[in-house]
Amino acid sequence: MKIAALLLSLSLGQSLDPYVRSRVEAGDRSTQCLFWSVPRITWHQSTQGNPETLPAGSEFDAVRRSFQSWQDVFSSCGNITFEEGPRVQDRDVGYVLRGDNRNLVLFRTRQCTVGSVVPADDGCWEDDSCGNVYDCWSNGNETIAVTLTTYDENTGIIYDSDIELNSAAFTFTAADGPRCGPNVTQGCVATDIQNTMTHEIGHLVGLDHTDALNSTMNPRAPPGETSKRTIDSGSRSFVCEAYPKGGVSQNCIHLTTDPTLGRKAADGAGGCASAGAGAWLPALAGWALMRRVRRRKDFRA
Ligand SMILES: [Zn+2]
Repeated sequence: MKIAALLLSLSLGQSLDPYVRSRVEAGDRSTQCLFWSVPRITWHQSTQGNPETLPAGSEFDAVRRSFQSWQDVFSSCGNITFEEGPRVQDRDVGYVLRGDNRNLVLFRTRQCTVGSVVPADDGCWEDDSCGNVYDCWSNGNETIAVTLTTYDENTGIIYDSDIELNSAAFTFTAADGPRCGPNVTQGCVATDIQNTMTHEIGHLVGLDHTDALNSTMNPRAPPGETSKRTIDSGSRSFVCEAYPKGGVSQNCIHLTTDPTLGRKAADGAGGCASAGAGAWLPALAGWALMRRVRRRKDFRA
């Protein structure tokens, strides 16, 4: 069974679909899609920014432009408004029940190196909290950025999504071009912040990777790339279909409540169905089932 599941996962991982929605179990289309049920998403940048990006402060504008690109799509045919909140000192990603949670964007400027940064016997290795405890990058040297999304595993409703960028291993730039090289080190594109962030915000709103060429959600980003700044037609259609303008956000498995047993039931993995507010209530009581997953390790240069 494990082999079969693995093959399924690999197969789905090579999807050429215009867009792929994130699932409660990554890549498992028999599980619920992830989506926001609120009309407004407030996001915050860490006050620290990314000190090595020049000119100083341009990283904040690049992140803002990425959200604006998605806002333009949502304004056209979606139902969510993005709002930038004040910059915050907070350096913690993830979700704390009853905590002061924010959708946070931050750059990690050092690796969680065993020994020199994080003691080898530190308990944070066990619960995967070293990144927050030591303010360091804990997701692998080849990963450009990670979006950490917290959702209800029954309903797929997203409650929190934070984006970390790996400034410890990648040189993030905000210029438009040309590509940086041995003779071009100023005013050039190394790892483009807007390119990276537009992709990560795709994860934030519930998109998984697709191998479709030219998709913002393609998992690979070579140095100097800026093409993902422009949201592709497939990703745009996701917004229109999952977050229809004037309508409720769409899940993929219609949840119903069995009046006799009083428990949630799913009617299979058929086409997407509207999730009425009433259908969400049973699972909203199940906060204990809330969990966090890492969506998604990006990109491989
Ligand atoms: Zn990704």
